[in-house]
Amino acid sequence: MTTESASGSAAGPERAGGREGGLAAPMRHPIPWQDESWTDPAALDAELRRVFDICHGCRRCFNLCDSFPRLFDLIDESDTGELDSVASEGFKPVVDACTLCDMCFMTKCPYVPPHEFDLDFPHLMLRARAVEAKKGIPVADRELARTDRNGRVMTSSPLVAGLANWASRTGNRVMRKGLEAVAGVDAKAHLPAYARRPLVKEARRTAPAINRDAPGFGRKAVLYATCYGNWNDSAIGQAARAVLAKNGVESEVVHPGCCGMPVLEQGRMAEVADSAREIAHTLAPWIADGYDVIALVPSCALMLKFEWPLILPGNDQVESLARATFDLAEYVVALAKGPGLAPGLGRLERPVTLHLACHARAQNMGAKAAEMLRLIPDMSPAIVERCSGHGGAWGIKKGNFDTALKVGKPVARQAAKGATETGALVSSECPLAGAHILQGVERLAGDDNTAAEPAAGRQTRAPHPIEILAAAYGLADLPAAINEKAAAR
Ligand code: SF4
Ligand code: SF4
Ligand code: SF4
Repeated sequence: MTTESASGSAAGPERAGGREGGLAAPMRHPIPWQDESWTDPAALDAELRRVFDICHGCRRCFNLCDSFPRLFDLIDESDTGELDSVASEGFKPVVDACTLCDMCFMTKCPYVPPHEFDLDFPHLMLRARAVEAKKGIPVADRELARTDRNGRVMTSSPLVAGLANWASRTGNRVMRKGLEAVAGVDAKAHLPAYARRPLVKEARRTAPAINRDAPGFGRKAVLYATCYGNWNDSAIGQAARAVLAKNGVESEVVHPGCCGMPVLEQGRMAEVADSAREIAHTLAPWIADGYDVIALVPSCALMLKFEWPLILPGNDQVESLARATFDLAEYVVALAKGPGLAPGLGRLERPVTLHLACHARAQNMGAKAAEMLRLIPDMSPAIVERCSGHGGAWGIKKGNFDTALKVGKPVARQAAKGATETGALVSSECPLAGAHILQGVERLAGDDNTAAEPAAGRQTRAPHPIEILAAAYGLADLPAAINEKAAAR
């Protein structure tokens, strides 16, 4: 199956004039991470100065994240009020505050290539991280990024998962303070619970019956489980499998390994390249056999579709995987627009506030999650398009968490307003963003989220929109899906 937007290429996402959804074709360059000059500190400094000077004169991105306010304050408070009097040592907080959400590149910047300024702010921040990584990554950060190892250990038995989840709850002040001291994870930050059984194992035990009468019957898809979908919360994958089966699509769940986003955040390019090679090689036979590949989490879909081909340009398996990969909502919408969906979608009583994840937007495929929810009779979700601020592993770090909540405050406000005025359920394509938004809502309500139990009736889990679609088909129980204690702990 193909759609206009599903094909990845080394040229990166296509869109126009520096703005999402336009007509021209700005592009991203392959990342020359293997060239010595790319990680040469002096060359990096010169490029930071070139780009920061352009940003200083432009300032369109002032309210996207904390990087830009830090940069503009740094320059404004310098002796001359210009970049020339800013010492390069001052750049680190600007780099540190970037969550690599891609929103400046995707939605604001008029100077992205092919403009002669050739400005790609997120990839410059990535380069700065790579230079930093050469000095060594702190052990705690290294351990946190080992998502597969951690997931394998924590889900080795329901007892271990239960203990891990007990220890990681924000209400467990003693354990969380210990984790904060040892690993620098803010004691207030929500940590994802571990699943009692990983999705891949769960999928081996049960397979939904394929609806042979569905218009889409005969299609085959590999669900790339992703670390989160496999180790932390199998509900997204199970809902996806159920919806696909209802629509005649046979699915297989695989998790050859992490897409490498957590190590990308740390600038560890060679390790991302290793993951890309290995996963592309594992999935190649499926693709050759006619399977589409669906990633359950937008950040991982972005990696497969766009970042990997920029990191390993010319690698046939990586490029073929990029072309075969779909974001989950993108796939369902393509089904609906192509052969059509199976009948049976019912009306849901509860309105929805839908957060569009930045890394879904960065795939430049349109607001597919919103389109997907609009397939449900009378469903008209309130859309939130700003970044939640969580930024992957970045947002849970001590020193970042409060900034992450500050960046996400406008999103939390919109979510809280919907919940108060219409009882709207908060949903996000990005499960980490969803949890972060709910923490933001609690903070707005005056709760610092360190209470042992959330207040009665408060939403404790933001379902992926596929779970809402599954509920509309009668394939999932939505109230249970949003009760974190019942679903995951
Ligand atoms: S990628 Fe996101 S976090 Fe980084 S500078 Fe751009 S808008 Fe800010
Ligand atoms: S990234 Fe582009 S749009 Fe944003 S402040 Fe810099 S020059 Fe302006
Ligand atoms: S909210 Fe999700 S999508 Fe947005 S920056 Fe964060 S990781 Fe990326």
